[in-house]
Order: sequence, then C-alpha cells, then structure tokens
Amino acid sequence: MSHDAQPDASLYIAGRFAEGEGEALPVHYPYDATVIATLRAATPKQVAQATAAAAAAQPAWAALRPVERGRVLIRAAQMIRDRAEELARLETLDTGKPIQETRVADWPSGAEALEYFGGLAPTVTGQAIPLGGDFVYTIREALGVCAGIGAWNYPSQIACWKAAPALAMGNAMVFKPSEETPLGALKLAEILTEAGLPPGIFNVVQGGGAVGAALVTDPRVAKVSLTGSVATGQKVYAAAAEGMRHVTMELGGKSPLIVFDDASLEDAVGAAVLANFYSSGQVCSNGTRVFVQEGILPAFLERLAKRLAAVRIGDPLDEATQHGPIISPAQLCKVRAAIERGRAEGARLVCGGPGEGAFVPPTVFAGVTDDMWIAREEIFGPVMSVLGFATEAEAVARANATPYGLAAGVFTRDLARGHRVAAALQAGTTWINAYNLTPVEAPFGGVKLSGVGRENSAAAIEHYSQLKSVYVGMGGVDAPY
Ligand code: NAD
Repeated sequence: MSHDAQPDASLYIAGRFAEGEGEALPVHYPYDATVIATLRAATPKQVAQATAAAAAAQPAWAALRPVERGRVLIRAAQMIRDRAEELARLETLDTGKPIQETRVADWPSGAEALEYFGGLAPTVTGQAIPLGGDFVYTIREALGVCAGIGAWNYPSQIACWKAAPALAMGNAMVFKPSEETPLGALKLAEILTEAGLPPGIFNVVQGGGAVGAALVTDPRVAKVSLTGSVATGQKVYAAAAEGMRHVTMELGGKSPLIVFDDASLEDAVGAAVLANFYSSGQVCSNGTRVFVQEGILPAFLERLAKRLAAVRIGDPLDEATQHGPIISPAQLCKVRAAIERGRAEGARLVCGGPGEGAFVPPTVFAGVTDDMWIAREEIFGPVMSVLGFATEAEAVARANATPYGLAAGVFTRDLARGHRVAAALQAGTTWINAYNLTPVEAPFGGVKLSGVGRENSAAAIEHYSQLKSVYVGMGGVDAPY
C-alpha cells in the first residue's frame, strides 16, 4: 500500500490551505524512513498572516452564542469518529506508533476533547456579587488569539486538547505542530472547516523552533500553550512573559511509580509496562522510576521480564505490532546513549538494550540508584529504571527528590496508604492502582518544572479565558470635593 500522505499544502490560514515559503520539511515514516510527504515551513511573514487572520476572525466567533460554537466542535468530533480508520493510519505514518494504539488513543482522545468542551461551552457563566445596593457581575471573556505549539508524541491529540477549550471559549488559534509530525493538525483544520468553523479561527503553520519563537512573540498573540520539553518550556515561558501573555506549559517529567509489597503483582507489573513502553516510551507522564518494595523485587523483575519477552515489535501498520520504532534518528541516538550510560553507571540490564535499526526494545534496568543519570533525566524512550525501597517514608522522599512533578503512581491494597501516598507525592496527576489514564473529565498538567496550567476538564476553561468585573452603581456618586 502507498504511504503517500502529502497534504494539499503545508499551511492552513484563514480557512484555506496555503503553501509554505520557508525551508523544505520532509516527513518520514519512522519505521522505514520513507518520505511520506514534503512540506514547507512558514516564513515570518506567513506566521504574521496567520495571526492576523486569527485576530480578524476572532471577535465574530466570540460573539456567537456558546451553544453555536459548541455545536461546531461536537460536529467535528463526530466527523473524526466517522473517519477513524483513515486518521489512525495517518497518525501511525506520521509518528510510527502502532496502529493498535492510534486507533484507540490519539484521535479518539482528540474527539472526546472536542465533544467535552463543545458541551461545556454553554455552561460557562459569570457571578453576581451583591454589595447592598450596588453590585458586580463577572464575565468570562475570550483571551483573543492563542498560539498552540505541539510535541511529536501525540500530535493530533495535542492539537485537539489545545484547540477544543480555546475555541469553545471564543478564542482563535494558530497551531504549530512539531516539525517531526506535521500532518495531523492539517487534518484537524480541514475537519473543523467542514464542521462549520469560520475561516481564521483555527490556523496551522509549520516549522521548527524559529517558527515557534516567531509565533510566541507575535504582538497579536495573547496566550501560548506549549507541549514540549522543559528546556523549550523555559525559553517559551520567558518569551511569553515579555508581552505578559498567558501560558499553559505541558512539559516533561521523570515520574515515580511506587509498588508496595501488598499490591497485586500482576496489576503492578502491567501498570509498569503501560507506564514505560506505550508509544515506545515516548510519553511525558511515564513512570520511568519504578520503586519496588524489597520483599517483592525479585518476583516483580521476573514477571516483568517474562511479560516483556512476549512483546511484538515490527511494522506499526501491522495490526499485530505492539511496539513501534523511535520517532527519529536523533531521538534514537539519545535513547541509545542513555542505555549506554545506564550500563556504564553500573545498572543491571534485565532485558532489552540498544536494539537495531529504528527500534529500541522495552529495556529494564535494575539495581538503579537515585544518583544515576538514568534515574534523574527524562530519556523519552522505552527505558525503565527499577529501584528497591524499604519503607513508605523513604519511598515518598525519594520519589519527590526530583525537580519534575508531572505524574506519579502508587500500587497497594492498603486503602489508607494509597490515599496518604497520593497526597504526599509532588505531582499534578497521581494514580492509585492505575497508571497513565488521562480522561478528558480530569485535569492534567504538572507541578514544579513539569509545567504551569491544566489541560482537560473544566479547569482548562480558566486557562483560555479571563475574568472581567462589571461594577454597577445603583445610587448617586458621592464625590468628596
Ligand atoms: P521540544 O521541546 O523539542 O519541542 C516541542 C515544540 O516546541 C516543537 O513544536 C518545537 O518545534 C517547538 N519549539 C522548540 N523551540 C522553540 C522555541 N524556542 N520557541 C517556540 N517553540 C519552540 O519537545 P519534543 O521533543 O517535540 O517533545 C518531547 C517533550 O515533550 C518531552 O520532554 C515530553 O515529556 C514533552 N511532552 C509533554 C507533554 C505533557 O502534556 N506534559 C505531552 C507530550 C510531550
């Protein structure tokens, strides 16, 4: 079957495809490096055209009844479901993630965000604050033009997670996908237009960090929502601060998963697998530091190695494939260097290793200590570090000894301990006897260096709107002179 995924053009501005006038951006299928499309980046002038189109269209969109805006988003969600197979295939070509994942995780999660925020839009109201005669009422207003910048691991989900709350609240968006995975956002733009979104409300520009930087500092941009690494987040946050722009920062992590000796071993092993190897380990919230209580450590490692030995690695378009390639040669180098570093530091390789071609198999290191590089830095690949611990207090203290705080997990059958540990862990999301489930109904985001703001849930509305207070004077004006 042909892998040609060439879109009509590279950019989407004011309701239409437009060709980029910047550098060429070849798009590779990570499995075999086939060029599946060649796009062109936006020039600074084209970034400005996109933000100008968004600024021009936004007031009329914000002036619609919320139920009318919501209807467009809900219609788009249905269209995504109707085109599920075609979209899953495109996502697999763009990212190299197995089709069995992209069918259930990527666009389906994006569709849920559109559905959720489409339904939420008409429920957003203000407050009336009585002052004994005079009163104040509040209005939750759109911010204006929002910039969305995405990472390559969940490109279509990220585009939807940002666009849905932004558009629901009456904002316009200019979205820049990762240069590694530029295709899904263009599909979203097409679908939104077909669903009835007015031209200019969702625009797509392409390119790398320089295009992202031009977007962030455009004077028309009121808010920046980034999903990416901590290093990029620090740059983007600083650039956004110049113009006092609002930000949402969804960044990286080195999340802990703590397994107590009373946990269901099978469930804890299953969670550790999901917390490290889904999407070839390229997941921001992954529980890459697995703390296992000493009494069950040998049994845990044995069961883990056995289950991982059965994983099917191969062509992501093959329905039987469970583990796909790494996104790019550059990322492959980083992951392999991390594995080499783990070995050199004295960690014991339980299974996996550097792999071959575009693949790194599920890799587990045991005997890892807190000071090792592999236990401190985000690898963003299929590399799990297993660390032993003795007491609850020790596990919590070591789990929190990181500058990151995106997510954390705890496995135990002791109800009180589960809640106590969840409360003590410094993370934006904490799972008890589960891992990496991020339903649209629940807030998602980080603490510490892992980010600012929340996506999903009603909490996201606050990050795509601002409050206006209207004071109503009901009597005369009592001036002192
Ligand atoms: P990255 O930081 O390299 O790039 C992210 C995006 O920022 C890309 O679109 C890139 O072009 C853009 N960018 C780079 N420099 C920029 C600049 N100076 N100004 C504006 N934009 C700029 O991240 P990545 O390698 O694409 O993704 C992996 C990282 O993303 C990991 O650290 C991962 O943990 C994180 N991530 C976080 C979440 C979350 O929700 N918290 C989700 C997915 C990925």
